[in-house]
Amino acid sequence: MVTAGTYPITNPATGEMIGEIPYATGADIDRVAQVAHAAYLKWRDVPVVDRVQVLYRYKGLLEAHSDELARILTSENGKLLDDARAEVRRGIQMVEVACGMPSLMMGDSLNDVASGIDCKTIRQPIGVCAGITPFNFPAMVPMWMFPFSLACGNAFLLKPSEKVPLTAIRAIELLNEAGLPAGLMHVVHGDKTAVDALLRHPLVRAVSFVGSTPIAKYIYATAAAEGKRVQALGGAKNHMVVMPDADMPKTVEAIIGSAFGAAGERCLANSVLVPVGDAAGPLLDLLVRTTQAGFEMGPLITADHAQRVCGYIEKGVAEGAVPLCDGRPRKGCFVGPTIFDRVTPEMSIAREEIFGPVLSVIRVPSLQDAIELVNRSAFGNATSIFTGSGKAAREYSSRIEAGMVGVNIGVAAPMAFFPFAGWKNSFFGDLHAHGKDAVSFYTEQKVIMSRWF
Ligand code: NAD
Repeated sequence: MVTAGTYPITNPATGEMIGEIPYATGADIDRVAQVAHAAYLKWRDVPVVDRVQVLYRYKGLLEAHSDELARILTSENGKLLDDARAEVRRGIQMVEVACGMPSLMMGDSLNDVASGIDCKTIRQPIGVCAGITPFNFPAMVPMWMFPFSLACGNAFLLKPSEKVPLTAIRAIELLNEAGLPAGLMHVVHGDKTAVDALLRHPLVRAVSFVGSTPIAKYIYATAAAEGKRVQALGGAKNHMVVMPDADMPKTVEAIIGSAFGAAGERCLANSVLVPVGDAAGPLLDLLVRTTQAGFEMGPLITADHAQRVCGYIEKGVAEGAVPLCDGRPRKGCFVGPTIFDRVTPEMSIAREEIFGPVLSVIRVPSLQDAIELVNRSAFGNATSIFTGSGKAAREYSSRIEAGMVGVNIGVAAPMAFFPFAGWKNSFFGDLHAHGKDAVSFYTEQKVIMSRWF
């Protein structure tokens, strides 16, 4: 924990300082919560068709400024510019879906549930909501939250990762430019001090969190104990299973995108490869040759994190795994793609989230063994299977314990109109991020029964 003050933002590719931000104190959080609550009391009475007009204008502004946002994103996060552009596009899709709130918020009704009595359900906003977001998707993850929350009639306090706040600051400037009434949306900065103040503030009614598992557990327990609604998305250790009948060249392309895209800093990255039976030989041969041929990869978020990733590579070697490609030595925040063969399920590189470009290969004899192996993981965010067999894909999709499944897809990222979250240690809560779940999360449901004499 650090005390309030001003802290630097660094470009991980160059090490250059690109900005600084003030950290909020408990008193700052209290002040913005009061302002947001006062704004919410007016906003909740604005008809939803009028509320979403702000989001329509916002979508236009985001599109006009998407390249600028992507460049800010790359400068503070390090991901490649094309990946940053794709992320901004994903964020805009969240706004597009939230524009449909007049339809999404509709309730049910039934006349004559008893003689002369009609019944309907309505959804109402809940008040001030808070979002706490990670460093790896500085544009998209905040947009899983605030467009839906605001369209539902709430106010929103966003606490972006202190490592990458600049994208969120610019995104919210554009939201204000789109005509959002003053006081409804605030960006607050900081780490544990600011987060704890949000979790404990009586005016904050709901908390959305995305980040690592230990913090997700803490957020869930703390906010729930304060009587708040919580959704806390945590870390991951995702597996991709490859059957012998898979299309090997396409599968290798997908594996490289999944394990090494965004330098492995994605909660949907598949970091354990599980070749079944005879798949291992041709798969690993092509995978290693393609990896050695080289591709562009950005830096990790900090030199400390890159050092931690290298620590895992050292551990893998010490535990007896066989490195087929070794991404060391670290150069600043850069670590190259690493592939370990002959990994066993007990090794730390097989069990723990590394959040870097390290792929562990665990060979298994059958699909059944693959399913049992994956289901023993403490995490259950996402998984993929590569096969030419519909039967194998169906069996895997239905038996696997994970929230998101890709069939011949390496990064199974649900679109904005579908829900997003994992199972087990990857998610604490009930209602998932975006899609219809977001509408339920950011509203209270009420049943009204009426009879007229
Ligand atoms: P993190 O848990 O370190 O930080 C996330 C947020 O929590 C940040 O805003 C941070 O300031 C805050 N925070 C950190 N320590 C805290 C503490 N002790 N008390 C209160 N708040 C605290 O995560 P990160 O390193 O920024 O992001 C990477 C992690 O996020 C990975 O584990 C990744 O798998 C996960 N992630 C998950 C998803 C998902 O959908 N499940 C999506 C993206 C990232």
